Amino acid sequence: MSKLDKQRIVESVPQKGFFGHPKGLFTLFFTEFWERFSYYGMRAILVFYMYYEVSKGGLGLDDNLALSIMSIYGALVYMSGVIGGWLADRVFGTSKAIFYGGILIMFGHIALSIPGSLSMFFVSMVFIVLGTGLLKPNVSSVVGEMYAENDSRRDAGFSIFYMGINLGAFISPLLTSSVSDAYGFHWGFAIAAVGMFVGLIVFMATKKKNLGLAGTYVGNPLTASEKKKYSIIFGAAIVIIGGLLAVLIPNGLFTVDTFINLIGILGILIPTIYFLVMYFSPKTNEVERSRVVAYIPLFIAAVMFWAIQEQGSTILANYADKRTDLDFAGISISPGWFQSLNPLFIIMLAPVFASMWVKLGDRQPSIPKKFSLGLLFAGISFLVILIPGYISGDSLVSPLWLVLSYFIVVLGELLISPVGLSATTKLAPVAFSAQTMSVWFLASAAAQALNAQLVKFYTPANETMYFGSIGGAAILLSIILFVISPIIQKFMRGIN
Ligand code: GLU
Ligand code: ASP
Repeated sequence: MSKLDKQRIVESVPQKGFFGHPKGLFTLFFTEFWERFSYYGMRAILVFYMYYEVSKGGLGLDDNLALSIMSIYGALVYMSGVIGGWLADRVFGTSKAIFYGGILIMFGHIALSIPGSLSMFFVSMVFIVLGTGLLKPNVSSVVGEMYAENDSRRDAGFSIFYMGINLGAFISPLLTSSVSDAYGFHWGFAIAAVGMFVGLIVFMATKKKNLGLAGTYVGNPLTASEKKKYSIIFGAAIVIIGGLLAVLIPNGLFTVDTFINLIGILGILIPTIYFLVMYFSPKTNEVERSRVVAYIPLFIAAVMFWAIQEQGSTILANYADKRTDLDFAGISISPGWFQSLNPLFIIMLAPVFASMWVKLGDRQPSIPKKFSLGLLFAGISFLVILIPGYISGDSLVSPLWLVLSYFIVVLGELLISPVGLSATTKLAPVAFSAQTMSVWFLASAAAQALNAQLVKFYTPANETMYFGSIGGAAILLSIILFVISPIIQKFMRGIN
């Protein structure tokens, strides 16, 4: 997109109207609020839906398989951002991508809300994966489009947007779990579908007035010959993959396990290819090349961090269900409610961290040191959760242990999530700026691809070993990162 286009977009957005921010932030805030509402509301009950017995309304899958599928699902949702970002940049622009994405997501949740079979569940998964890939990275990048390059409100705008994400993620698990406990899983999923529907309405009804031209430009449109080339490639890929699956699946050669392993490989392969392409591209200059190198250890740390954070909705959800005393102070707790703790703590603590950074000014830790500290908290959050089992053996443990663990991981999340996104925008070569969001989400994708393998080893009987070794690995990595942080800083060439 040319500089003139960028300026034209900024001028077309009413620059005031939402807490002193561009009016479009209202539209994007609520679209993403509802999308995350539906995503996290669905995930809060999905894991139980998969492993609860059929008599309890579940699919009756094995616990570990359900946990692996949850992780694979999460990995695919963030991997598909690569395709969603590409389609927006080269084919239909961000605004249309958000709209199509929202529609797919809504149909995905509708499919889940119709009592059906395992195959219905996989159909819905495809819809939600593709839909989120189209919506999530693109809605975030429109936020950036609304501010002029030197607008000092930009970071605050992203912080408000981040609050919207977590507000949606906070409210929905409370609702979907309570409803699914009372009326069955499918009604819980129906709430997620309604949430995405409301999000779509908000987006469509307010975008013209609030977003102006933001999201309407195709940044780097395909030329006629590229269109032809990519149509052939896509068409051939679909035919080949479809053909292979049609032969392999009936012959038992492509099972859920093969799929889990395949995604595990892709989780590592895709970011590796990205880094190689960015590093060797003729459009990348010498300083940018050095920054790509600096980004690699940060990315690895982010993968380790998200691996632990995302187990909050898989392993810890299972722990809440099976190992925790859910009668607390006269209240009967629904295991899905624990999913609201992470976003609740984010909402409470994000302003504290923001003001701490302002207060510290130049004295605040460097990006690699923040990452190292974030990883340390993640590691500690896992060590904390092994204590109750160690003390009380097989008997149910107090829910406060989980509360503490979620709290500690959030301390880490606030050192890694907002910092990492902004570091990605600063460290990615200019020629790849349209893909910044996708690159950052690949850390979450890789983390969950890794989790799909890790969670296979979890059983309540070996939890000390499980939490201890993963938490220990995170702490070790945190120490290594801390030690090499001055070197990383040097490679960052002036970014801090
Ligand atoms: N929980 C945040 C969200 O849903 C962070 C996503 C991520 O980077 O994994 O937007
Ligand atoms: N903290 C996560 C995010 O920022 C939300 C969650 O895990 O529930 O969206």
